[in-house]
Amino acid sequence: MENRSSTILETQISILASLIQERSSKDDKIIPTLNPILGISYKIGEIDFSYEQIKDLEEKGLLQRIGLKSFVACPICSSIIVNLNLVCPNCKNQSLERKEFIIHYECNYIDEMSKFLKDEELTCPKCKKSLKKVGIDYGKPGKLYKCSSCGEISQYPLVVITCFNNHISKIDEAELISYPIYRISSSQLSSTTLEVIKILNQYFLQSYPNLKVESPKTIYLNPKEKYMIPLYISDTYTNKKIYIDFINNEKEFEEKALKLLKIALLDNAKIIVVINNYTIDPDLFDPKRIRLLNIYSKNIEEISKLLINEIEKILKQ
Ligand SMILES: [Zn+2]
Ligand SMILES: [Zn+2]
Ligand SMILES: [Zn+2]
Repeated sequence: MENRSSTILETQISILASLIQERSSKDDKIIPTLNPILGISYKIGEIDFSYEQIKDLEEKGLLQRIGLKSFVACPICSSIIVNLNLVCPNCKNQSLERKEFIIHYECNYIDEMSKFLKDEELTCPKCKKSLKKVGIDYGKPGKLYKCSSCGEISQYPLVVITCFNNHISKIDEAELISYPIYRISSSQLSSTTLEVIKILNQYFLQSYPNLKVESPKTIYLNPKEKYMIPLYISDTYTNKKIYIDFINNEKEFEEKALKLLKIALLDNAKIIVVINNYTIDPDLFDPKRIRLLNIYSKNIEEISKLLINEIEKILKQ
């Protein structure tokens, strides 16, 4: 089961990756919506992701949190599948009708417009006088709520929420449950990165049949902490392991440096870190373990060549 669900997730990641490629703008917000069947779901492109799946994508570094959206929830059972209902402020029944009303100024009688209409003229049902001029004979207060249970006419009905489990609560007692708003992570997978990964994937699978190539590869730094490496190459004969990661800026570098060191020590592997920033000092790491490759202002083809060269050097050592 574990294996199967992770395969499904890998598939979704590749779908997501291709979506990122298709889109020129990564600024689109990925907003939680309430789906009556799925519960909270997120739409990316044409695909609906459940909140659980989205959290996995976030853990893998593909999504970034950029805000929150809150949903009204039942204060009794926390269900967010709620309906908003208007009830009579007098008898609390949900039996209101919204109608156009008329008030006859002389006798102060107020009722629905339909009750005044008689032979295409307006006549007061109470005093039977004819109503001629709006603003002088009669007023139009607009649409009001009339309770069909107790007859109460009101301008402001009570707002209640009814949850999936039929609990009824006043609107000011409602709870709020927030879910994150995401955007596609700007750090991990730029379209250039994805293109380079694709080229490397193809090249190594074709030229080195004994190599195992995985993209992306999830590494457990400890039982709770996962790290996603975009590309992993291992030689099953020599037992060499090479991880390739991409870093775009100094902030990302700070976040990742320690984790990359951990991976290098964990697996006794070689790590190639592709950096797109000339301000990062290449001597920060032990080059025997972590090789920094600066690709600042290089194009996809140049980056791919550089990387292939670097990986082949390690493989032939
Ligand atoms: Zn409830
Ligand atoms: Zn009522
Ligand atoms: Zn009247």
